[in-house]
Formats: sequence, structure tokens, C-alpha cells
Amino acid sequence: MKNKPVVVCGQCNNESISFFSLGDGKPFVCPSCFLTTIHTRKLLQWLEKARKCGQGGYDPFNNGNGYCFSIELLKNELSEREHIPNKQEAKKIRQQKTKR
Ligand SMILES: [Zn+2]
Repeated sequence: MKNKPVVVCGQCNNESISFFSLGDGKPFVCPSCFLTTIHTRKLLQWLEKARKCGQGGYDPFNNGNGYCFSIELLKNELSEREHIPNKQEAKKIRQQKTKR
């Protein structure tokens, strides 16, 4: 039986074994809360890498003993994000804004 210490996430209050620091003086958060702080483009890169390494996940910090974000977790977070407008869509949005 594994007996890893469990900590309570500073954001969602769920218990988790893996934790990430959001910086000095900020709470530690669980992997899924940590992902909410990552830019969508970066998440897409991580998802790509997770797919390539195919070992159940991707460790963006690459220090060997870090946490690996699973494809599922990354996909899950990305599905919560707004659609990123492509160039044409961004142009349309800008045009609509100037009309108002
Ligand atoms: Zn959390």
C-alpha cells in the first residue's frame, strides 16, 4: 500500500498527492487547478507532447520526478477553454467591436 502524504488544494479544496506552487506566498494547488493557470497555447503544446511521449503523460518541467499531466487531464482543461479565434475570426471580432 502506498502511503504518500496528501495535501488539500488551495483552490478547489480537493485532496491530492501531486502539488504545484503558484509562486511565493500563494497556495499550493492540485494538477487540474494548476492547469487553469496555464495559457491555452501552452496547453496545446503540452497535449501534443503528451501524445508523443505516450507514457501516460507529459512532464513540462522535465526533471524526471515531476508530475506527468495525462492527455485526459490536458484535454479536459482545454475543453473548458473558450475557442481560440483564428486570424479571420479575430478580424471579424475586431470589426464588430468598432461598429458598436
Ligand atoms: Zn485543486
